[in-house]
Amino acid sequence: MRFGVPRETASRERRVALMPAAVSRFVKAGIEVAVEQGAGASAFVADTLYVDAGAKLVSTREAFDADLVLKVQRPSAEEVGLFRSGGSLVSLLQPAASADLISALAAKQVTAFAMELVPRTTKAQSMDVLSSQATVAGYQAVLLGASRTGRLLPMLTTAAGTIPPGKVFVLGAGVAGLQAIATARRIGAVVSAFDVRPVVKEQVQSLGATFVEIPQVAAEAAGGYAAALDDSAQARVLEAVGKHIVDQDLVITTAQIPGKPAPLLVTADMVSRMRPGAVIVDLAAETGGNCELTKAGETVERNGVTILGPINVPSDIPYHASQMYSKNVQTFVEYILKEGKLVVDLEDAITGPMCVTAAGEVRYPRKT
Ligand code: NAD
Repeated sequence: MRFGVPRETASRERRVALMPAAVSRFVKAGIEVAVEQGAGASAFVADTLYVDAGAKLVSTREAFDADLVLKVQRPSAEEVGLFRSGGSLVSLLQPAASADLISALAAKQVTAFAMELVPRTTKAQSMDVLSSQATVAGYQAVLLGASRTGRLLPMLTTAAGTIPPGKVFVLGAGVAGLQAIATARRIGAVVSAFDVRPVVKEQVQSLGATFVEIPQVAAEAAGGYAAALDDSAQARVLEAVGKHIVDQDLVITTAQIPGKPAPLLVTADMVSRMRPGAVIVDLAAETGGNCELTKAGETVERNGVTILGPINVPSDIPYHASQMYSKNVQTFVEYILKEGKLVVDLEDAITGPMCVTAAGEVRYPRKT
């Protein structure tokens, strides 16, 4: 059994799918692990560390010539051509936007697993790349935004005067939002947050932030995710957010509704009433943005307010994002590895939903 870890080639991708600690575990289990030269370099993991862990350093072609290829970003069309027929792939695949890629993998008889389709269940928690990478993104969003405000966020009492604490407002308190709250609190800011799921209020308060109450707004769907708001609830949210946002120094937006564009929470009119120097970091930029003025991958300035729409934020912290991703991948692979062989049980509650191609067939979207 041979695993391959190619160097990531997507632009601005600095993570690596497998870290030396996971390589060492697989090598001890009798697996040959082939890591492309330089695969960890942009995550600050030197080739020598992979060699010390028992990996073989190989070329791109050899990294794809494996029973199981482990990647972060979905392979390019050119890379699909390098797979072994009958091989397997574990990677982020953006399945909803990758119909051609999934067909190409099926045609090549590659069994592919999309890491973002991991079920959000207790049993699969240690394989959950959505949570691990959202944790990194929530942290980094605060640092990105804080460094653009032109202000100090902690309260400081110095010989040069007293500086009041900055105000941070977090919209959407899921995994990324809760980490943003915790990070902003550690920096010393006064933090408030809002989410449409009422259950989140206690979690927000336990992190030392205040929950912005908006009467008659609650939208929780199956699986603990948010649902879209009806028109009158949405109007109440916009009114309350509009009032609260005017004196904030940093606004982090993370609101998402699975399978839908991100909900609009910050209008251009609200931005025009914010104070100069305020910063919005829109972590929902890739799904349309929570702010009307967000441009994915760009920075927009409006009346002195800066709106950041960063994409692939976890890649900004490549070492720890890779460490967490690698641990998630390792746990999933160990789950499907039985006595040195990959065993794909399509009826399994974790493996089934994650498998997008098997035996030459496309299995995504799933028929219910
Ligand atoms: P997400 O990325 O889908 O959304 C981010 C947040 O935006 C959510 O908290 C959501 O409620 C909120 N939101 C949506 N519309 C909004 C609006 N109009 N205004 C304000 N906020 C809005 O969410 P996520 O971070 O992936 O987590 C979703 C849920 O999954 C949570 O309940 C989380 O606890 C749960 N979860 C479970 C597991 C597990 O059991 N393994 C793992 C991770 C997450």
